[in-house]
Amino acid sequence: MDIHRVKAFRDNYIFVLFDRRRNSAAVVDPGDASPVLKCLDDLGATLTAIFNTHHHSDHIGGNQALLQRFPQAVVYGGAEDRGRIPGQQVFLREGDTVTFADRLGEVIFVPGHTRAHIAYYFPPTPTAAGGELFCGDTLFAGGCGRLFEGTPAEMVDSLRKFRQLPDHTRVWCAHEYTLKNLEFAITVDAANPNLQERLKAVQIARSQDRATVPSDLGIEKLTNPFLRWDQPALQAAVNGQTPEQTFARLRGQKDMF
Ligand code: ZN
Ligand code: FE
Repeated sequence: MDIHRVKAFRDNYIFVLFDRRRNSAAVVDPGDASPVLKCLDDLGATLTAIFNTHHHSDHIGGNQALLQRFPQAVVYGGAEDRGRIPGQQVFLREGDTVTFADRLGEVIFVPGHTRAHIAYYFPPTPTAAGGELFCGDTLFAGGCGRLFEGTPAEMVDSLRKFRQLPDHTRVWCAHEYTLKNLEFAITVDAANPNLQERLKAVQIARSQDRATVPSDLGIEKLTNPFLRWDQPALQAAVNGQTPEQTFARLRGQKDMF
């Protein structure tokens, strides 16, 4: 399974999964069809699946146009998103699985950004080195999604599920927000040497217009404040007494940042 990163709008990423053996492709969160169609044409691939993480228009806006061109493509999304995702045929719940290119993808229910948000996790296989996590707008490189339809406690539970995945997992998040996220992170976790180092590397990458996605889950665990609500330094930074309170205060400060 090859993964191609496609840029859309200002700062969105859409991911095209390519099965060389069958010349078929799947797409994760096609907010816009045109860059996806260009990628599919370049690959000479037939689209067989659309994997949506949640109903926001920058993630589903291209569904209809892609279905017009590839009417056989199957549209997957969260069960709780019924009625909100154009063309949805498969309604997924925690623990369900999807398959693409001989890889099995596990569905993780991660409410918080929206009440129906799901993620797709493809664990490592003997022939594929690392796991792949398509987390939509739940986890970002250095940050996390805003809470539009969920509570801090729900988001902490969702992010905890990601934190339990292996370090060597590539994190394919849907936006290039990393620099701004780390500029915030350093204000609440200034003494973290891993974070200092990552911020410098990302500053250089972005000054050269290089993408920072995918990131590595192991590095997220060391540097992303929204996975570190139980670290004393972060609890002290916002005077949080519990993981939920620490998370909520961090999220609140980031909303104003
Ligand atoms: Zn969203
Ligand atoms: Fe988004």
